Amino acid sequence: MVSRVIPVRSFDLVIFGATGDLAKRKIFPSLFRRFLAGQVPQDSQIIGAARSNLSRKTFSDLVKNSIKNVNELNIKENDLKKFLKCLNYIQIDATGSDGWNELKKVLRPSKIQAFYFSVSPSIFGSLAQSLHNYEITHENIRIVVEKPFGRNLETSKQLNIILSEHFKEEQIYRIDHYLGKETVQNLMAIRFGNMLFEPLWNAQYVDHIQITVSETVGVGDRSEYYDHSGAMRDMVQNHLMQLLCLIAMEPPARFEPDSVRDEKLKVIRALDPVAPHHIVRGQYGSGSDHADYRADVDNKNSKTESFVALKVNISNYRWAGVPFYIRTGKRLKARTSEIAVVFKEKPHSIFGPEARNHQNALIIRLQPDEGITMDVTIKEPGPGGMRLIDVPLDMTFSETLGLDVDAVPDAYERLIMDVIRGNQTLFMRGDEVEAAWRWTDPIINGWIERNDVPKPYDSGSSGPYDSLNLLEREGRKWREIM
Ligand code: NAP
Repeated sequence: MVSRVIPVRSFDLVIFGATGDLAKRKIFPSLFRRFLAGQVPQDSQIIGAARSNLSRKTFSDLVKNSIKNVNELNIKENDLKKFLKCLNYIQIDATGSDGWNELKKVLRPSKIQAFYFSVSPSIFGSLAQSLHNYEITHENIRIVVEKPFGRNLETSKQLNIILSEHFKEEQIYRIDHYLGKETVQNLMAIRFGNMLFEPLWNAQYVDHIQITVSETVGVGDRSEYYDHSGAMRDMVQNHLMQLLCLIAMEPPARFEPDSVRDEKLKVIRALDPVAPHHIVRGQYGSGSDHADYRADVDNKNSKTESFVALKVNISNYRWAGVPFYIRTGKRLKARTSEIAVVFKEKPHSIFGPEARNHQNALIIRLQPDEGITMDVTIKEPGPGGMRLIDVPLDMTFSETLGLDVDAVPDAYERLIMDVIRGNQTLFMRGDEVEAAWRWTDPIINGWIERNDVPKPYDSGSSGPYDSLNLLEREGRKWREIM
């Protein structure tokens, strides 16, 4: 089974920051894959913009190399040649006057126009202002803004104010690439496309929910940015928050941008504050082939967390009393993202007390091997009485659906095409981002006030011991990271 291509109208897409890491690693390879899939009309224009003085040929080579560097693409030179014909490059300084008139000249009013701000958030304002000053903005253009959307409530509000001076909310596409992942959307399909789960999806039947996003890598090239942010800002405030919202939200009336985003917002607003003893921060130690966190970020006094685990409750009718445990970290045992909905014990065991302690769980794996697993209890085969065991009913999507994994669009492919199609469902709204910071800020401020130091943890482990204890003291257990 391969994905179906929804045609889009031809477009002019301007990528500010076209020489940067994100453009090279994600944006151009994604556009090329959509081009190969036949979704990018040949008369579309992809205009790179940055301060570097590049000829069209040099820029074209840069894009070509960036596409070739993405290994899984099996590239035919002829396809690449056709794609490169869509490219243009204009030298533009977001904070100056160079290049703007030229940009205005090449834009075609009859086409969809989108402007991707793949630059530091500190120049979003200058870009927005220049687009306005040079009369490039009009009510049909769209802008795409990258994370981080602020580093706290105040800065996110400032960004929203700056952008709202020149653009309506319907024109602003705030990217959280997690929302573009196939399985994240599948979360909604599983919940709202089946009769089976929704009646059980509440405090009466659910014991607790676990959300884990673990990485095996360290901070890599992003050390400066990361040490300034930490796992709470980099992962929890956005990606894990979005997963929590999709798991916890009420059914939206329709699968439409504001219906979905209204429901997500209600979840964020219903999150309880997190008590200090319900949160554990960690910092990774060294391994056989890598240094520890502090050496990686070249800051021997760093108090930034590369791991965070916390327990949060949602104060609403559906979830009262159900803990949501979330954790994320770097240099952990395995790279995995999964959500586990763990159901309550049966009210009574007809097989005697020894047959208790069997809880059903629905596991939604986002990566790797995207799929769902349902832990069900059965009789252990063979003689010896009624002994119960838990077995997973496993459905790995690529196997069950005969899916060609390479044919499934990756998150950036889907999201960029959604921008062109004008569909904001998988993008964050300004009030959603602010609400997430409103919940996150007191946690981070509390660490600063208490001069909190993250607990060290072994590289390749499941995080600091205290994070295991977060559940164990309540008679629960994290699922193995594997
Ligand atoms: P980067 O590698 O530092 O690239 C920044 C880009 O901005 C370069 O193309 C640079 O080109 C351009 N630029 C800088 N100042 C400019 C100015 N005054 N006018 C015009 N262009 C200017 O950054 P990045 O990693 O690609 O990240 C871009 C954005 O995506 C950031 O907001 C980042 O937080 C976000 N993001 C990145 C990643 C990632 O994996 N890289 C992941 C998630 C989000 P010149 O120097 O030629 O002007």
